[in-house]
Amino acid sequence: MNIVRQKGCRDILPEDTKIWQYIEEQIRDICKEYNIKEIRTPVFEATELYSRGVGDETDIVNKEMYTFLDKGNRSITLRPELTAGVVRAYIENGLSSKIPSPIKLWYTGNMYRYEKMQKGRYREFSQFGVEFFGSSSYLADIETICASYELLKRLNIADKVELAINSIGCDKCRKEYIDKLKNYLSPYLNDMCDTCKIRFEKNPLRILDCKEEKCKKILNSAPVITDSLCDECSNDFNNIKNTLEKLNINYIVDTRIVRGLDYYNKTVYEYVSKDLELAVGGGGRYDKLVSVLGGVNTPAVGFGIGIDRVVILLKEYGLLDNIKNNKIIYFLTDDSTYIKSLEYVNSLRNLNYTVETNIQERSFNAQLKYANKLNADFVIIIGEDEIKNNECSIKNMRTGEQSKIKLDINSIKEKIGNA
Ligand SMILES: [Zn+2]
Ligand SMILES: [Zn+2]
Repeated sequence: MNIVRQKGCRDILPEDTKIWQYIEEQIRDICKEYNIKEIRTPVFEATELYSRGVGDETDIVNKEMYTFLDKGNRSITLRPELTAGVVRAYIENGLSSKIPSPIKLWYTGNMYRYEKMQKGRYREFSQFGVEFFGSSSYLADIETICASYELLKRLNIADKVELAINSIGCDKCRKEYIDKLKNYLSPYLNDMCDTCKIRFEKNPLRILDCKEEKCKKILNSAPVITDSLCDECSNDFNNIKNTLEKLNINYIVDTRIVRGLDYYNKTVYEYVSKDLELAVGGGGRYDKLVSVLGGVNTPAVGFGIGIDRVVILLKEYGLLDNIKNNKIIYFLTDDSTYIKSLEYVNSLRNLNYTVETNIQERSFNAQLKYANKLNADFVIIIGEDEIKNNECSIKNMRTGEQSKIKLDINSIKEKIGNA
């Protein structure tokens, strides 16, 4: 039996890695422009980081984590998300005294969740995310929305997804709301799904998230959290809405959004593709997480965007035209001229051209066939005669035009144009 890849994993092949690289390029550009610094944290962490940081009652911690004992009998978990790890690193490395606050960090990387397979959902998946530490102002929330929106805009998918925002309040006003919600729900509880029954006791806000039709019906007339916000939360939420309007960023308010993780407060938001029924990303404020994980009380806000899902959108909508391909230059040589040709091959490579050579000792004809299959833009022929006359033949594979030119790098460049 051949060994096959694990369920829920994907091999990203060259045809697709160029899409990933294109997305990653936009990410790096935007983060540079926003002065957001990259952070890289380990793929595995102590299990406790997630049970404390993500929350014992969440699906992620309850059902989806890859947890195992290592040979030293430590309970280890493959990261199911990256915020907790970044917060751990922020505290452990004393970043608050090393970098002026607010501190703005970004990451990309693979994460692991033991989930049921569906479109855009893998057990190994990749996210880009941003975490800001030290600002409690709604302007920090706004900047995270602007940065994520800018990425979607540059990828031409901003108009393919809907930005939905909500406020889930602070400890004080959320408690009042949860009481109201429970009062409303208790008479209907027997008609709701089993998950909702458990959540009613353990995590009632998550009931709003339920996708079961019978629960959704009951929730239609439930009290909404935005009616229960305290003055501070309500001001922040209004400021965010007003600012988004001034910035011409379209949004809707969706009071059902609570996000799956325990650590959020105040602003939460999601980007959803309605057409493809795909959540592309989301974020929000998590002012308590740093202290929950043992740090000094520090307000924080961030977002994550699923790169696998962005790839799906780009493909579904055929938005791959912006991906730039280098021209391919093929150097056609024989045994006696191969080494001499490397001088020109390397010069072009140093100038950022994509150059292929004959590394299989093929015949003249076989090389030409191969160059054709490669879809090479130009073939440069260097045989013994050419070397003798200090020239080379150059064939434009698009037009079929072939000519002899002087064998020097400037003449070649002039003929083939930019990389
Ligand atoms: Zn509040
Ligand atoms: Zn339910």
